[in-house]
Amino acid sequence: MMESNKFAIDWCDSIRKSIDSIDSLRSERNGLQPDLDCVIERYPMRINPYFLKVVRQAGEPLARQVIPDIAELEDQTGFEDPLGEENDSPVPNLTHRYPDRVLFLVTTECAVYCRFCTRKRKAGKVGQVTADTIEAGLSYIEQHTEVKDVLVSGGDPLMLSDEKLANILHRLKAVSHVEIIRIGTRIPGVLPQRVTPDLVEILQQTNPLFLNLHFNHPAEITEEVKTACSMLADAGIPMGSQTVLLRGINDDPQILEILFRMLLRMRIRPYYLLHADQTRGTAHFWTRIETGLDIMQKLRGYISGLAVPTYVVDLPGGGGKVPLLPEYIVHKEKDVWEIKNFLDKTYQYHQSDLKQHG
Ligand SMILES: *Cc1c(COP(=O)(O)O)cnc(C)c1O
Ligand code: SF4
Repeated sequence: MMESNKFAIDWCDSIRKSIDSIDSLRSERNGLQPDLDCVIERYPMRINPYFLKVVRQAGEPLARQVIPDIAELEDQTGFEDPLGEENDSPVPNLTHRYPDRVLFLVTTECAVYCRFCTRKRKAGKVGQVTADTIEAGLSYIEQHTEVKDVLVSGGDPLMLSDEKLANILHRLKAVSHVEIIRIGTRIPGVLPQRVTPDLVEILQQTNPLFLNLHFNHPAEITEEVKTACSMLADAGIPMGSQTVLLRGINDDPQILEILFRMLLRMRIRPYYLLHADQTRGTAHFWTRIETGLDIMQKLRGYISGLAVPTYVVDLPGGGGKVPLLPEYIVHKEKDVWEIKNFLDKTYQYHQSDLKQHG
């Protein structure tokens, strides 16, 4: 108990000591652009002391993820709500797009504010998620028996106090039609001190619960992160990870190969490689789809299949996530398909002799 209280003070204190003004950022870093104050007025900044230390060691690939850029205000092409989440929201902060599962936002706070966040319209903005919206979300889930999978997200759900998080998870666990709960969180990778023994116990008790983490670059994986992730894995909590494809940060097959291999060794299964959403204020991070496909082609077959995530584009306007694959089908006739393998060699697949059923 003493031990875990010590942890708890550490992570809350860390959030309080985060850099959230351009003045304090300037004292940390030379060569910042002018006029960044107006950027963070629109899109808040937060860099907690732990992540700042990692940024200092790792440099640009991490710095660009969290340090504001004037380009955020110059972007005229992106959309406030690129995935049309609000249109599919029966109650505020809950999106019900797919038949059996919902996305449930329980906070807008995070341990760092990623400049490329898909939910830039909400991240770090106060007053959007309230006790009332959480209650409305929980009732919606309780009333809709088709909801079998709840993806708790935000913001970062692990920013909630242990007590608040445990309350939400207990409520969800008590819903008989909810089969699994997922938490989407970047915290184990950006504020590993938050992964306390008490938190691990809460997550462990909410079985079956899947944690979906967020890692974009190998330099995010420090000794502290490894320790936090082994606490979670040792507690039997299954973990996946999603990675956002970001121009100039990780749009490179070699960097992603290293990242995905490191994740697997930490018992984290790479789940999605997300093509960057066309969120307003993030155009300087976008890549072309060809870049993502080229990366997938350079991974599949060359590294363990367990290390290869599914590359998805979340279609603008609410179309949802669609997997994209490099073209392996060379030619297709009714009974003969010509398919090439990862070494670009073509093979024929015959399927004419199957007996029809029924
Ligand atoms: C991504 C997402 C989900 C979860 O999708 P999976 O493919 O099952 O991981 C659910 N709802 C919304 C609105 C989403 O964007
Ligand atoms: S941690 Fe997730 S929700 Fe929070 S700013 Fe980063 S991408 Fe957005």
